[in-house]
Amino acid sequence: MFIVEPRILHPVADRMVYRGSLDTAGSDPGGYRPRREEVAPGGVPRGPFWGVLVGRGDRSVRGLGNGMVGKEPPVRERMQRWRRGASGAVVRIWAVSAVLLLSPSAAIGQHGDEGALARLGPGEDRADLFEWARPFDADASIPIPASFFGRETGSVFTRYEELVAYFRALAEASPRVTLTPYGHSHQRRELFILTISSEANLADLDGILDRNRALTRGSERPLSGTLERNPAISWLSFGVHGNEPSVYETAMEVAYTLAASRHPEIGSILNNSVVVIDPALNPDGWMRYVNWYENQVGREADANPDSNEHWEPWPGGRTNHYLFDLNRDWIWLTQPESRSRLQVYRRYMPHLHIDYHEMGYTSPYFFGEGDQPYNANIPASTRAWIKKVGEANAEAFDREGLIYATRERFDYMYPGYGKVLPVYHGAVGLLTEKGGHSRAGLAIEFNEHEVLTLRRRAYWHYVTAMSSLEMVARERRGMLERFHDFFRSTHELARESPMSFVIPAETDPALLAVIHDLCVSHGIRIDRLTRDTEVEGVRYDGETTAFPVEMRAGSWVVRTDQDMGRLARVFFEPDPELVEKQTYDITSWSLPAALGIDAVATREAFAAGTEPLGEWRASEPRVTGEGSVALIVDSAQHRFPAAVGVAVKHEAFARRSGEAIELDGKRFARGSLIIHALRNRHVDTDALVRDLLASGNSVHRASTGMPSEGPALGNNASGRLGNARVALLRGSPINANSFGHHWHMLDVAYPVPHSVLAVDRLGRADLSRFGVVVLPSGGGLSGDARSAIESFVRDGGVLVATGRSGHWASRELLGLEAKRRDRDDSRPKLSDLTYEERTGRSDEDRVPGAGVRMLLDTTHPMTAGLPGSLTMLKTDANPLPVSDTGFVIASYAGRPRVGGWISERNIAHIRDEPSVTAHRLGRGWVIAFAEDPTMRGFQHGPMRLLLNAIVFGPGM
Ligand SMILES: [Zn+2]
Repeated sequence: MFIVEPRILHPVADRMVYRGSLDTAGSDPGGYRPRREEVAPGGVPRGPFWGVLVGRGDRSVRGLGNGMVGKEPPVRERMQRWRRGASGAVVRIWAVSAVLLLSPSAAIGQHGDEGALARLGPGEDRADLFEWARPFDADASIPIPASFFGRETGSVFTRYEELVAYFRALAEASPRVTLTPYGHSHQRRELFILTISSEANLADLDGILDRNRALTRGSERPLSGTLERNPAISWLSFGVHGNEPSVYETAMEVAYTLAASRHPEIGSILNNSVVVIDPALNPDGWMRYVNWYENQVGREADANPDSNEHWEPWPGGRTNHYLFDLNRDWIWLTQPESRSRLQVYRRYMPHLHIDYHEMGYTSPYFFGEGDQPYNANIPASTRAWIKKVGEANAEAFDREGLIYATRERFDYMYPGYGKVLPVYHGAVGLLTEKGGHSRAGLAIEFNEHEVLTLRRRAYWHYVTAMSSLEMVARERRGMLERFHDFFRSTHELARESPMSFVIPAETDPALLAVIHDLCVSHGIRIDRLTRDTEVEGVRYDGETTAFPVEMRAGSWVVRTDQDMGRLARVFFEPDPELVEKQTYDITSWSLPAALGIDAVATREAFAAGTEPLGEWRASEPRVTGEGSVALIVDSAQHRFPAAVGVAVKHEAFARRSGEAIELDGKRFARGSLIIHALRNRHVDTDALVRDLLASGNSVHRASTGMPSEGPALGNNASGRLGNARVALLRGSPINANSFGHHWHMLDVAYPVPHSVLAVDRLGRADLSRFGVVVLPSGGGLSGDARSAIESFVRDGGVLVATGRSGHWASRELLGLEAKRRDRDDSRPKLSDLTYEERTGRSDEDRVPGAGVRMLLDTTHPMTAGLPGSLTMLKTDANPLPVSDTGFVIASYAGRPRVGGWISERNIAHIRDEPSVTAHRLGRGWVIAFAEDPTMRGFQHGPMRLLLNAIVFGPGM
């Protein structure tokens, strides 16, 4: 039936090219007419062309013996269904020339599965899976992914370099496609988008985007003609999680269809919209997964779910280089991938944003509306349009006979997701999830009748992508009107429910810089007070009664009567409204609380008395004084721990002041760094000062060792700074995210010299060179690792353990018994509750992530330079135990809830209990944190406390 033409199209393997077309003339519509064509090696076939297929070198599947695929309706049946489909038009289906993609018998025969192939009827594994808007009258000059790579889409995992090469070729071949690089991943992989539209639209792209951005000025009427003529903008994001890899295959097929098809429905998408494809948001994680997989898989993919290739090891490919979940970072922008993406995203300000994912492989597909809670700052109109897109997807899925889920599980509360953050930039934001994920490999037995292949996973995503794009093209004007209304109604909301946030002028410049950077990146305007002002409002400490606070001229004001006012509320409101407690993520993230600053939230609108902040730069760190006795770095500076890191790097002999001192007319907080000239002749002082400034800290050159207040610099009270050489532990059972967040903190955010040590060879590592071992949150250590850590501490080392590891260290190393919640449980037994009542019970017991207030022991060396209280994100209800001789560095306040969901019962359980403790063990210390302050890298207040523990712990 097929003419087989062996070719080498790809350097890695023999390829065979198969092509055929549907017989358009015969009496048996849908019969196949084989065709033989010349294909240049590695090249793009010319002429009327329908597809090229697979050959040797592509993996076949070892599994249930039924060939490759799950059940798919035969081609004819599906085409007839399509003809009856809701799009209305009677499609000339028999004029189609489509390629049928049969896994060739020659290739299968190689793997001894000829019998299975013989059972596959035409259409059961179909080339036109990826053909939308049939008949697919394709422009033959546009490279098809299959021909470009010499393999069927989904037969192997495409690699990043291949994806780049394909998209470059596509952009070169098609006047409908432009490729725009926008940044780099940590591992220097280029990030880029494709912009796809009609030639006319692309020629006027700058004008289109300008007019579109004018729609975001909600206080103004839309420019005349914009609503009538400007195209809608759809943005598809693929692969924020690197081990959900079917989406990269989808990205190529969607781009190809848009670039090549001559079908009127595709023409309508191109004329009525600009489609942006971000094909690989997280290339580093993606390649971590694929490199691993390629090293496991044999000549054939093994569909047995127990086989090794289905069990990705620690840390997995979900996250980026520093193991950050980029799908939680859209708001915080701690990672270069997120930062650069938001910049190009805001140039386009799309009306639709879809984030492509995969979930557990036994689930079918999720799209459309999520579940409650929706964040109260999301307007009803956005939600209505999310529903509309979901309905368009449902219609297409029904037509294709695919199963889906919607309106469940995935809520719209946490603002850092790819489906939610774009909502605050005006988009209709959606999530799609296909069952698959790294567990599914290239193929996995789904049940006893079906094998789920990569190709089919990619296809399901293709259906939501194409049906969503069609819907946007159809509803272009409605999309634009809703978009403009989002910004217009923001001003209305500000009039009805005024709210502003005031940040004191005295705030540490490093923390102001965090706020400034986030506001500028997200398009939020900052104003400043033009005169000293009494502001009536609440602080970020859980109190809800407003009271007057004196704010100095120059203090920053973030007003909500601005275009990005909704996002300003999301960032700054102390306690987000929560309509339903079952959430998928954290429920508290207020920026001033996370930074530990003394801001005020107020109902005042500040229509007068403020002016735009305009250009702002954090004051540069500088050198003061001209003395040569010692260098002093004030510990009150937020970035102080990085200065200690510099001292460690230069091997400087340093002390920390035991009390606050006043010297040369300047005041230095307790714990300030003192580097005497005498003891540091081996240090290049100029280089040291340069590095201290670069760490973000000002430096004072002291002219005397005798302060006007406080102990002399050489007093015993100002003890020697201990050996702050840090070992950071990595590997199972440590939580991979937690490790990554600690690593990023020590490596990038607040650099402190450190070595990363693998848990599984800890028993063989020389720990004596380190002063501190940092154990991120996770399961407890055992065996050699545990013994090594215990000996290290008993010999004088400091262990800093966070989150679950903090609880583990308290229990296992210190032998302390945790306070139990069930001891005084006078509630009815679980077995006495109905099913529904048990849901209520689990709400009561669960802490999804709430902001709780900690009071600090401000006399302890570890709290130097810190305020008296901080807000910590708490994700469980467990306080730490403390022994009679232990130190409580921080404890939960009497009224600990600042924001988010935590039940009264859990509040009572943690009230006044320890949150951070320090205990002697042998000659060393165990410092335990009940929570992980590094979570997602945005809690700069609590992170400073952790950094203090790391740099001051060895000297305690
Ligand atoms: Zn995902």
